[in-house]
Amino acid sequence: MRIPDSEQTILRGISGSPGICIGQAYIVDREGVNVIKRYQISEEMVPAEIDRFKQAVSKAKNDHAKIIDSLDRDLSENLNILEAHMVLFKDKLLYGKTIETITNGKINAEWALRKVSRKVKAMFQQIDDQYLQARVNDIVQVSDKIMANLVGAQDIRISDITQRVVIVAHDLSPADTSQIQLERIKGFVTDLGGKDSHTSIVAKSLNIPAVLGLGRATAIVRNGDILIVDGSSGKLIINPDEDTLFKYEERLTEYEAYRAGLARESHLAAVTKDGVKFELMANIELVEEVVAAKDYGADEIGLFRTEFLYLDLKRYPTEEELLTKYKELVEIMAPRSVTIRTLDINGDKVNPYLHRVEEENPALGLRGVRFCLENQDVFITQLKAIFRAAAFGSIKLLIPMISCVEEILQVKQIINKAIIELELEDKIFNKDIPLGIMIEVPSAVMIADHLADHVDFFSIGTNDLIQYSLAIDRRNRKVAHLYQALNPSVLIMIQLICDIAEKKKIDVVMCGEMAGDPINIPVLMGMGLRKFSMNSVSIPAVKKMIRSLDTKQTQKTLRKIGKMNTVQEILDSILKEYKDILPYGRTEE
Ligand code: PEP
Ligand code: MG
Repeated sequence: MRIPDSEQTILRGISGSPGICIGQAYIVDREGVNVIKRYQISEEMVPAEIDRFKQAVSKAKNDHAKIIDSLDRDLSENLNILEAHMVLFKDKLLYGKTIETITNGKINAEWALRKVSRKVKAMFQQIDDQYLQARVNDIVQVSDKIMANLVGAQDIRISDITQRVVIVAHDLSPADTSQIQLERIKGFVTDLGGKDSHTSIVAKSLNIPAVLGLGRATAIVRNGDILIVDGSSGKLIINPDEDTLFKYEERLTEYEAYRAGLARESHLAAVTKDGVKFELMANIELVEEVVAAKDYGADEIGLFRTEFLYLDLKRYPTEEELLTKYKELVEIMAPRSVTIRTLDINGDKVNPYLHRVEEENPALGLRGVRFCLENQDVFITQLKAIFRAAAFGSIKLLIPMISCVEEILQVKQIINKAIIELELEDKIFNKDIPLGIMIEVPSAVMIADHLADHVDFFSIGTNDLIQYSLAIDRRNRKVAHLYQALNPSVLIMIQLICDIAEKKKIDVVMCGEMAGDPINIPVLMGMGLRKFSMNSVSIPAVKKMIRSLDTKQTQKTLRKIGKMNTVQEILDSILKEYKDILPYGRTEE
C-alpha cells in the first residue's frame, strides 16, 4: 500500500462500531449548504446574479420533477407533498422576494435566499394555523435544494459509491448508513454522532468499523488519504507512518483471527459455568439481516426496529407491503419468535416525508408511541399487518417510548380497533400474541409496578434510558463521554425493573446496546437478567463471556460495585476482576 508523504495525524472520537480497517478516504460532503458567505455585488452584476439564482431554481425544479416521475403514482400522500413543493419553487414569497433582495440589497444570491427563507419561516411560524406551520418545512426543503445548487454542494448518494473506500462524512443519518453496500465500503468516520446513536447501531449491524464524533475529520482528511479506522478504541489515523501501518496490519490479522474463533463457537449454547441458561436474541433493522442473526447464533429476534422500512420508502407503507415483510421474517425465523416493535419514528430517525413539522427537541417530541397515538391510521395499518403475520409464526408485539399508564391503555384501545377491522374484513390473523413495552423513559421505570399490570413483558431499552436519565443526547459527540451505561443511577434503575418484573412474574429482556458489550454482562447477570437482545454481530462475544462466568460470582460482583459511587471505580473493578475473560480490545489502551 502507498504511504503518502504527509505526516501522520491521529484523531480521537467515539467507538461507533468495533473492528479495524485500512483504506483510502472518500469524502462525502453535504455541508456546502451551511457555509454561506455574504458579499456585495456591483449594480452591473445584479442581472448576472439574478440569472445565476434562476438557473439554480430551474435545476432544482428539474431534479425535483425527476423524483416525482420516478415515484409510484398510487402513493398519493407523498406525491401531494412533492407536487406542493413544485409550486413553491416559483412562489412569490421565496422566488420573487429573493430576486427583489438581490436587486435592492446588491448582495449575492445565496445570502439573499437565506435572508428571505428565514423571514418566510419566521412569518409562517407566527401564524396560529397547524397547516400553515407544517408548510414551513416545505419551504425550508425547497430553499435548501436551490441553495445546494447555488453553492455547488453535491448530493452524493452512498449507494452510488463504487470503490472500496472508507467514507468520511460530516454526519450520516441512519437512513444513509442503511444504504451502505458491504462489498464497497470498508468503514466510515464522521464529525458528528454520539454513543449508541442509530448511526452507530446500523454500522454495528453491518459489521463494519466506524468512528463517530471526530469533530473535524472532514476538514483534515483529503480524498485519497490512507486511513486506519480503529472502531474498537474510537481512533482515526490519517496517513499512518510505516511503523503504525505495520502495527495495525498485524492487529487487523489478530482481530480477524479473534472474530473467526468467536464465529466457530457461535452455535454453542449460552450457558454459564454453573449451568444457567441464557437466551440471546438479535436486534435487526431490516428483514435481510435475519440470515446473519441466525448465523451469529441468535435464539430469536428480540427487537425488530420497523421504522427503517418507512425511512427507505419515504412514505407510509401499505398494510399488504408490511404484511409481506413481516410474514417473510416470521417464516424464516419459525419456530423461533420475532419481537416486532411498532413504529419508533422521529427522535433521530426523522424523515421529512413523514414528519413535516420541525421540532426543537425531537428526542423529547412526537416520537415512538406518541406519534402513533396521534396518527392512528398509520398505527392501525401496522398493527393489522402484525396480527396478520402472526398467523404464520410466533410474534411478540412491542410498543416503544411508553411513559405513562394512559398510553398503554390507549394503545390497547387501538389494538381492539385494529382487531375489529380485521374481523370485519374477514382476514386471517392471530390476536393472541404477547404484548410488551420498552422501558426506556425514566418515568416508566418509576411506575413499572403499575405498567406491569397491563403487559406481558418488559424490554429494557438502555440506549434511550441512558439518554433520558442522564440527560445526554445520544447523537451529541460533545457529551458522549458522559453517556455511561455503568453509571450507578442507570444500574439502580435496571435493578428496579428486574425486581418488579420478578415480583409481577412477567418476562424481562434487555435490548439496548448495553447488553451487547461483554464488559456489562457480569453486572447484568448479577442483577438476574437472563435474556439479552443485541446487534447480531455482538452475540458471539457476549455468548463467550456468558460461558466463562459463574452466576454466584456475578452476584458478588454486583454487591461489591453497589457500594461504589463512580463509573470509573466500577469500570476498573470489572476490568480487574474479569481481565482474563474480557474480549479482544476491551482491556487495552
Ligand atoms: C433503546 O432505546 O435502547 C432501543 C433499543 O431502542 P432504539 O435504539 O431503537 O431507540
Ligand atoms: Mg429506544
